[in-house]
Amino acid sequence: MADPAAQTTIKVVCRFRPLNKSEVARGDKYIPTFQGDDCVQIAGKPYHFDRVFQSNTTQVQFYNAVAQQIVRDVLGGYNGTIFAYGQTSSGKTHTMEGDLHDPEMMGIIPRIVQDIFNYIYSMDENLEFHIKVSYFEIYLDKIKDCLDVSKINLSVHEDKNRVPYVKGCTERFVSTPEEVMDAIDEGKNNRHVAVTNMNEHSSRSHSIFLINIKQENSQTGQKFTGKLYLVDLAGSEKVRFHPALVLHPPPSTLCLCGFPVSASSYVPYRDSKMTRILQDSLGGNCRTTMVICCSPSAFNDAETRSTLMFGQRAK
Ligand code: ADP
Ligand code: MG
Repeated sequence: MADPAAQTTIKVVCRFRPLNKSEVARGDKYIPTFQGDDCVQIAGKPYHFDRVFQSNTTQVQFYNAVAQQIVRDVLGGYNGTIFAYGQTSSGKTHTMEGDLHDPEMMGIIPRIVQDIFNYIYSMDENLEFHIKVSYFEIYLDKIKDCLDVSKINLSVHEDKNRVPYVKGCTERFVSTPEEVMDAIDEGKNNRHVAVTNMNEHSSRSHSIFLINIKQENSQTGQKFTGKLYLVDLAGSEKVRFHPALVLHPPPSTLCLCGFPVSASSYVPYRDSKMTRILQDSLGGNCRTTMVICCSPSAFNDAETRSTLMFGQRAK
């Protein structure tokens, strides 16, 4: 079913948020200028991406342009990964989650969930779907299960096909979009309760939502699975990744390696849990999209340029 030659590189898109109230009040300059739909300039220097989304892009426009196709691919048996990368307050969580309960402001995760179930409801009865979700975070290279607060240091194992997975992580079977939203709410709640300063915590932790879809045709016996990783990365000012496209054809694999900025949390990223979990879900026979989130304020100029450079190198 999956065609290994179909996509060997990752797609990188860039999204600018609007200036926020305090930036406007402070009189911050709005620094990006846009050219066509794939280039943004900062102080005359152009940065090119597969697509660039300006500050007025709505949640539904972004979803349709960036995530919808991946959902179809995952339902077709591919694996997929969507990352949000950018400094704290650049719009990563807005892009990935948004407001889970506001149809207009929902980010890509709730829209993906709706789309998956709409697809299922439209299929004939011979097709059986088994959907399970996991939700965990990685903080200082420790994996915590957001759906079971007693699991605070899970490890990465490989299954018999050498596919990495988080051993012992809760896998919740879900049969309606509401059940998925409940799981997300529960996980977010657990994350909040566990820490005193959620903003500081979320800027240093990666949040990973995994959707696993198994399809089985009761008449033909045909089975396949697709899994989709939805990743809200730690703030880029806290954790520096170095993206390296390692070409050992075939297949080509993207590995995220790098180093954290803060010495207190040193982990060689080549060996980090994040890298290991996603090993099999980056590049190669996968649909991988990286969303580079940026602030438009002159105040964040330096970090925005380094974020844009990172995104360009990931291609
Ligand atoms: P991050 O997760 O990268 O730290 P957030 O997603 O929390 O950043 O965004 C910071 C603030 O900016 C939030 O209040 C969010 O609602 C707002 N915001 C982010 N992106 C947009 C956007 N594209 N349009 C409107 N508001 C946005
Ligand atoms: Mg966030």
